[in-house]
Amino acid sequence: MGKLEGKYAIITGGGKGIGESIVHRFLDDGIAGIAVLEYDQNLAEEMVSRLDDRGAKILPIQCDVSNEKEVEKAVAQTVEHFGTVDILVNNAGITQDGMFHKMSDDAWDAVMNVNLKGAYHLCKHVVPIMRGNAFGKIVNISSISAFGNVGQANYAASKAGLIGFSKTLAKEGGPKNINVNCVAPGYIETDMYRTVPKEIIEEHIKNTPLRRLGKPHEIASVVSFLSSDDASFLSGQCIIVSGAATT
Ligand code: NAP
Repeated sequence: MGKLEGKYAIITGGGKGIGESIVHRFLDDGIAGIAVLEYDQNLAEEMVSRLDDRGAKILPIQCDVSNEKEVEKAVAQTVEHFGTVDILVNNAGITQDGMFHKMSDDAWDAVMNVNLKGAYHLCKHVVPIMRGNAFGKIVNISSISAFGNVGQANYAASKAGLIGFSKTLAKEGGPKNINVNCVAPGYIETDMYRTVPKEIIEEHIKNTPLRRLGKPHEIASVVSFLSSDDASFLSGQCIIVSGAATT
């Protein structure tokens, strides 16, 4: 029996990269259904077309997580389709890097609105469902940049915010059997890391004790563990998955 059997999940930004890997891993672990909330509906539908007949377990929904009305509608659509939400993975994220003294208000707001406020919107509409069920697993995708990284003041603030947010929801949700954790990846081979200059990546690999970048499936396996009852007494934590790199 798969460790996620009978469970229904929402994954934001599940159309590619780490999110797509989480979808694959959840399916391997026997999940009953996944709503994939994606900014670009085509991306979600293409991802489903890359799956075998297990694609039938995916409900692709167009949703900009920074827009609360769209999130509210997407959560309602998920509940209408699957009946409930047991697992929420706030994975959607963007970067708009630059030195802080040159950073525009727009770059600050865009990153905070997707990475932190997006997770807030999802939790706002999913936590009441989980409280009603007296069961829930929430995994928020942070980053080792949360601990400080040159050129990423907006991104670091959003990802550090997610850690405090998760620890607080874990304390509040515990009595209702809701586990909330963060995963903080190091550099992972997806489109996002490809925007980082080559020399920064080379330096990062030199400073990574495992001497390489991570692969999306190495994040997905940790997310699946945290979403399962194998991690039933694990809550309020930030698991750093970075090959022992700090930033
Ligand atoms: P990615 O390949 O760029 O995927 C991000 C996904 O989020 C895309 O499908 C993107 O859709 C979606 N998305 C962006 N804005 C959205 C919005 N407003 N509403 C809904 N979906 C939205 O990035 P990734 O590397 O897989 O990153 C996944 C998560 O891991 C992010 O939170 C990221 O910050 C975090 N992370 C990544 C790394 C890394 O090195 N890759 C390291 C640490 C943490 P579109 O393409 O249509 O915009």
